[in-house]
Amino acid sequence: MRRSSFRVPERPETQIVEDPISGDIALQSRVRGQRPNEFRHEDEAGCPFCPGAESQTPKEIASVVDGSGAWLARAFPNKYPAVTPPDGDHELIVDSTAHAEELTRAGVGLWRERQRAALGRYPNAMPVLFKNSGELAGATIRHPHTQLITLSRPIPRWERLRARALAYWERNAACVWCEDARQARSEGRSVETAARIAAYVPSRSRYPSLLRFVPLRCSAAFSEADDDELDDFTAMARRAIRGLNGSAFNIFFEGDPNGPPGASHWHVDLVPRESTFAGFELASGLHITSGTPEESAERWRRMMA
Ligand SMILES: [Zn+2]
Ligand SMILES: [Zn+2]
Repeated sequence: MRRSSFRVPERPETQIVEDPISGDIALQSRVRGQRPNEFRHEDEAGCPFCPGAESQTPKEIASVVDGSGAWLARAFPNKYPAVTPPDGDHELIVDSTAHAEELTRAGVGLWRERQRAALGRYPNAMPVLFKNSGELAGATIRHPHTQLITLSRPIPRWERLRARALAYWERNAACVWCEDARQARSEGRSVETAARIAAYVPSRSRYPSLLRFVPLRCSAAFSEADDDELDDFTAMARRAIRGLNGSAFNIFFEGDPNGPPGASHWHVDLVPRESTFAGFELASGLHITSGTPEESAERWRRMMA
């Protein structure tokens, strides 16, 4: 065999790359692939996120503790980051002391605190807070945890959301997200409305069965959510997750914390992972949904009852 004469360029541990052909950006990480996958090989060392295993994680940077000082939720830098300074950073938040998937108020409170801290370091960033639960959703560890990836550069999709929301604001003198939530209530796609948070199925979302949580108060950034909003969100989302009965799901936040009025209204999307992405989705970037949003809202109402 002939030895390849191609020279492989030196690459940093992580970098943000832009495809000169499509303009798409991607995060390249040489360490991300080294993380263990509990779903493929049951690790005999035990769960690294359970209480007592703190020495197996990087040094803690924040936590929520109970009256005796024991942690209820804790945050630390991701051991296998997708991005590193100065491009941004990648944190991991353990949401609960319990090993089974469960949303806790302590965990959700720490999400808000870590988003605030990220905006302190990168004031113009759009921090991406997300949870992968189950192998189909991209998780590699079972213990409930959430990740925060903060990029020092704008995210093209979120810039597009901001531009469209601003255009809507200029035409209608109204927030597009507030309007969307109101329409859902009048068109039978509402799933639940509490004092501070509404949950509904958007009429034209990209994913089947997507459930959206939105604060009734028009507020740009999750980092500015108040305690009552977090209480309502936690209680509702916890019931939705229980309704999924162990099936894989993703939770992710959208919202531009720096947007001018009308440009952003924070919201959380919960997407059950019933299928994986196939050729059409990879080729076109478009998703095919099945069923109607009204059927999906009815299903969520039953699951959360
Ligand atoms: Zn555990
Ligand atoms: Zn709004």
